[in-house]
Amino acid sequence: MKVGFIGLGNMGSGMAANLLRAGHEMTVFNRTPEKLRPLTDLGARRADTVADACTGEVVITMLADDSALRRVTLGEDGIVDKLRRGATHVSMSTVSVELVRDLAQAHDQAGQKFLAAPVFGRPEMAAAAKLFIVVAGAPAAVRTCQPLFDALGQRTFPFGKEPVAASLVKLAGNFMLAACIESLGEALSLVGKGGIDPAMFVDLLTSTLFPAPAYRTYGTLIAESKFQPAGFAAPLGHKDVRLLLAASESLRVPMPIGSLLNDRFLRLLAQGGESLDWSAISQLAAADAGLPRIGRS
Ligand code: NAP
Repeated sequence: MKVGFIGLGNMGSGMAANLLRAGHEMTVFNRTPEKLRPLTDLGARRADTVADACTGEVVITMLADDSALRRVTLGEDGIVDKLRRGATHVSMSTVSVELVRDLAQAHDQAGQKFLAAPVFGRPEMAAAAKLFIVVAGAPAAVRTCQPLFDALGQRTFPFGKEPVAASLVKLAGNFMLAACIESLGEALSLVGKGGIDPAMFVDLLTSTLFPAPAYRTYGTLIAESKFQPAGFAAPLGHKDVRLLLAASESLRVPMPIGSLLNDRFLRLLAQGGESLDWSAISQLAAADAGLPRIGRS
């Protein structure tokens, strides 16, 4: 397929490369043009503007947050202005329910199709084409884009016709991940202060009661205090908790652990954690326990 790809950050660079490898005709755009080079070396066409990336059947966005996606899509010379009628915008960023609703409406009015398709999986999984893709939107558009999803991930989970459903599912999933990180931080601080090797504790957990990827990935990062380079940066983690709380407020669903996580991220960012991985909130539990850190650094 002829595909435009906008947003070559930690996730997007590996994703665009996988689409190229799968034989799609790719045009890539990134705000910082230096990041285009590895993709053009692989055979992608370089776009100098958002409009240049909107000439195909599909344009995919993998941008940081609401503000970036809103500007690129709804701003002057944005995707809604430039994409042809009948073409599809696949939004794969983690963004608010509200923005997804706005985008669905704007694309519909412009005669374009829109899918929300956020993903689970860190940059290593994006590079290895092992993402889990949560998609919602018109079933015909999902079918058309399935070969793209197959090139990006190991499984696609359709959540119906309303794009906002995918956004809500993604935010709920990331809430579970952040809660897992917080609980690991607290438990590992406890055993660490008690003189137990946190890595051995993680090995026990993930070999028995918690053999889940989230506990393996984050248990290891936390036990090794490995928070740089950030696979998923703390400001993006905070963004997701804020979006979760906005959704929970609008649906009138109290989420007290979500509120606690919001405070954790605020504290991490206030204390200079901008460039750390989001799993660094675990260190706040260690600090509360009077420990310099959990595990080895
Ligand atoms: P990232 O490395 O920070 O990349 C963000 C991308 O957005 C870059 O291409 C950046 O361009 C672009 N961007 C930011 N602000 C912009 C603006 N105002 N205008 C135009 N472009 C802008 O982020 P990421 O880790 O790839 O994450 C991308 C999305 O996937 C986020 O929504 C994130 O929540 C979600 N996600 C991430 C992970 C993960 O583990 N990293 C996992 C699942 C989902 P520049 O290169 O010019 O800065």
